Amino acid sequence: MVGGRTSAAYDVLMRNTVVFAAFAAFVVAVPSAQSPDARVRALLDSPKFKQAIGFIQSDQDRFVRELIALTEIPAPPFKEQARAKAYLEMLRQVGLTDVEMDPEGNVMGIRRGSGPAGGPLLLVNAHLDTVFPEGTDVKVKRQGTKLMAPGIGDDTRGLALILALVRTLEAAKFTTPGDILFAGNVGEEGEGDLRGIKFLLKTGKYKDRIKQVLAIDGNESNGITRGGVGSRRYRVTFKGPGGHSYGAFGLVNPAFAMGGAIAKFARLEVPTKPKTTFNVGVVRGGTSVNSIPAEVSMDVDMRSEACAELNRLDQEFLAVVGQAVDEENRTRSTREGRVAADPKVIGERPCGETPLDAPIVQTVAAAIRAFGLSPTFTISSTDANIPMSLGIPAVTIGRGGPGGRAHSPDEWVDVDPAANARNVQVALATLLAVAGGG
Ligand SMILES: [Zn+2]
Repeated sequence: MVGGRTSAAYDVLMRNTVVFAAFAAFVVAVPSAQSPDARVRALLDSPKFKQAIGFIQSDQDRFVRELIALTEIPAPPFKEQARAKAYLEMLRQVGLTDVEMDPEGNVMGIRRGSGPAGGPLLLVNAHLDTVFPEGTDVKVKRQGTKLMAPGIGDDTRGLALILALVRTLEAAKFTTPGDILFAGNVGEEGEGDLRGIKFLLKTGKYKDRIKQVLAIDGNESNGITRGGVGSRRYRVTFKGPGGHSYGAFGLVNPAFAMGGAIAKFARLEVPTKPKTTFNVGVVRGGTSVNSIPAEVSMDVDMRSEACAELNRLDQEFLAVVGQAVDEENRTRSTREGRVAADPKVIGERPCGETPLDAPIVQTVAAAIRAFGLSPTFTISSTDANIPMSLGIPAVTIGRGGPGGRAHSPDEWVDVDPAANARNVQVALATLLAVAGGG
């Protein structure tokens, strides 16, 4: 269960928005050597960055080749191994050290900084898994610079971007004070329930060293996800005695109890701001049309930008399940047994946020502004939820667009060379600015 967050969280978020707006205006008006904008400007004006721009242009074909190759290796939830193995080899090829797969299936490698070994780490990750089941046609189709295939954007383009970034860091001989851990992680989507990033930050060998996180999983280069939408998912199983639909008519029926629960759930009211949502996504159960089912179940998803709203919705949901069960047991005969409901949590994404005035957020925003883009701040559900919930500064940044139709068979990305070169440059400037390198 998520706990400990209060309804004050959203108010703080709004207050920070005002503070940040004032701060941003100050930075624009009075640039100083210390401001993130000035630091990014100096980075972009450096000879190394100019060299990097040339390299990125020359690397375009390889980027596209790797994006296609990775997309065409299926990576359904819990079945990321084949893609993980291929990505592990690619991480080795780009020159990372300590390349390995951890027990959860994440693959990773280190780029050493100039500081002493074993120091704080910046984690840069993209997720290996897609939402698409086994058997999905993942062959990439091309129309000019437009590439189409399930998963090609979310998040395979993020994986390809990491490889391009590491090659560029090497080619232009950039250095960073601390080590950077680059990872392709499992389990971001759906029932994966962020298992890959949870392992990296709570169990893995680097868990105590990771002090900042840049997750690459947004569509556009100017997007900054600095808040994590929390979600809670249940599978609720309703059980009863079952029986013949005609001969045992009158006995309690778990399907009626579940139907009652769904009808009540559907009428719950949730705020539009902070955005709070709920869904019954899967219903199942029963054995034949002429049997009172002994068991039915439903999968439920609830989300909110605010932890307090999520907790309130959760309590209301559990209450209506209880009411519907009671009503069924009162309405029909319980002589062969009662209906009971068993709600099991099948997914838990903790809420969290990185404040707008946190250095990592300001730095990423400055890098985006340096390319003439205006940063947009969003709250979403990504791998960054986990570091945010642990108090580790984290944001999710763009993999570069344009692209669209994520999670659909028509998913597409555009790899127009000029636009893509800019996307890679924005990500490179972001990475170097956050890592304090140059
Ligand atoms: Zn994603």
